[in-house]
Amino acid sequence: MSNLPTFETAFEALDPAFCVPCAPTPLADLQLAHHSSALATTLNLPADWLRGDGFRQVIAGLAPLPGASPQASVYAGHQFGQFVPQLGDGRAHLIGRHHGADGQLCSWQLKGSGPTPYSRGADGRAVLRSSLREYVASEALHALGIPSTRALALGVSNQPVRRETVERAAIVLRIAPSFLRFGHFEFYAARGQTDQVRQLADAVIAQHFPQSVGRYADWLTEVIRRTAQLMAQWQTVGFCHGVMNSDNFSILGLTIDYGPYGFLDAFDPQHICNHSDHSGRYAWDQQPAVGQWNCARLLEACLSLLSDDDAVAIEQANTLLGSFATVYTDTVSARWRAKFGLATQQPEDDALMQDFLRLIAKGRHDFTLCLRHLPRRALLADLVLDQGALADWLARYDARLARESLSQATRTAAMDAVNPLYVPRNHLLELAIRAAEQDDFSVLDRLMRALMQPFTEQPGMDDLAALPPDWSAALSVSCSS
Ligand code: AMP
Ligand code: MG
Repeated sequence: MSNLPTFETAFEALDPAFCVPCAPTPLADLQLAHHSSALATTLNLPADWLRGDGFRQVIAGLAPLPGASPQASVYAGHQFGQFVPQLGDGRAHLIGRHHGADGQLCSWQLKGSGPTPYSRGADGRAVLRSSLREYVASEALHALGIPSTRALALGVSNQPVRRETVERAAIVLRIAPSFLRFGHFEFYAARGQTDQVRQLADAVIAQHFPQSVGRYADWLTEVIRRTAQLMAQWQTVGFCHGVMNSDNFSILGLTIDYGPYGFLDAFDPQHICNHSDHSGRYAWDQQPAVGQWNCARLLEACLSLLSDDDAVAIEQANTLLGSFATVYTDTVSARWRAKFGLATQQPEDDALMQDFLRLIAKGRHDFTLCLRHLPRRALLADLVLDQGALADWLARYDARLARESLSQATRTAAMDAVNPLYVPRNHLLELAIRAAEQDDFSVLDRLMRALMQPFTEQPGMDDLAALPPDWSAALSVSCSS
């Protein structure tokens, strides 16, 4: 039987300027709705602890992690383009961290665990609906191979929380090497506290980017590289984040802070998943540009690290920012090619792939299934309305595939390994939420089992891979959480 890890107090740069000691406000009646056994295994957590009341008490905020004390940190950020000088962990508590088996740091954070000095008058709580959505997506993106903060557990309570209606409170226990955001750097930079910017950067580099110690430009290049790759990963699985504010951008290039996210169903490149995003700032086709824009904000915050001479620093920052487009283009193109089963590279490939996406966008056909069923022509034909256009495109595609050397079986297996069958669609989340509201967590459990193997067809799970029902279109997901 393994033991609990050895925990320590969590924040990166322990100077009191960066965070405040702050205890969760417990939800005494909290019950464990679900936990990620995949993550628990990775963390080598003892099975009896996970089953016992000690784990529940940690999630409920009733008990601290042994050896660690809870903290809340302050950050700033650009929200929908506007700089907000002070945000922070307004409903989250860093409760401890430890070293994983691979030596990597694992920070534990409760979300929905009560007010902190950074709550700005809000209640510090999160509702079951949004917490379940965050819990599922964190683990689903990881299973899709996309960097994300993880979620170890979802706890729900009967405590009422007032939003548009009265809802149930919930807490997600999130795990990541670090929860630092671009906004942490923006906070100190906006106040002219360049010493703090440097301290924070030094701590982050020492802990998470050891190969870049003493080389700030290298570190920023790596953050930009990870962010650009993340945008390419989001685009090619049809993931829409919904609130790409710079405070929701991880310094480690992880997907963080799942709110009104969505996966594309009927393909509309201008799809806006967040009902509160009236201008479509964070529409699916805008995401790569917004990722780059956020990198520019991070570079601005870190100018003092690049040079004492402003003009030199700005010139260097512009050069660094230039790497975003190259990394993004290379990554997204490689990922599309893999999804279309193109192992070799031909000049006409981009047009061929773009034309397919245009075809399914024109008919508003299902993004996930059309790509998944590229090698299954009968199933693909069932999805597409304009059979003539599809036949024309398939003739071009077949001519192109004839120049590939892999066997069709090998190609199909490779394509299936990158075109998921199961993604957390809004209607599937909604069904899991409705059941969970009634203390039935079996729908969530079944969904999680499918999503943990998103590329493998699983018997008895057909409904989870089906087209969304008509009522799904009426679902509206907003910033309210
Ligand atoms: P988000 O939109 O979830 O990324 O939150 C933006 C900011 O508002 C962050 O600083 C959050 O901590 C804070 N926040 C959101 N909801 C609440 C809440 N219910 N109570 C306190 N702070 C909140
Ligand atoms: Mg946030």
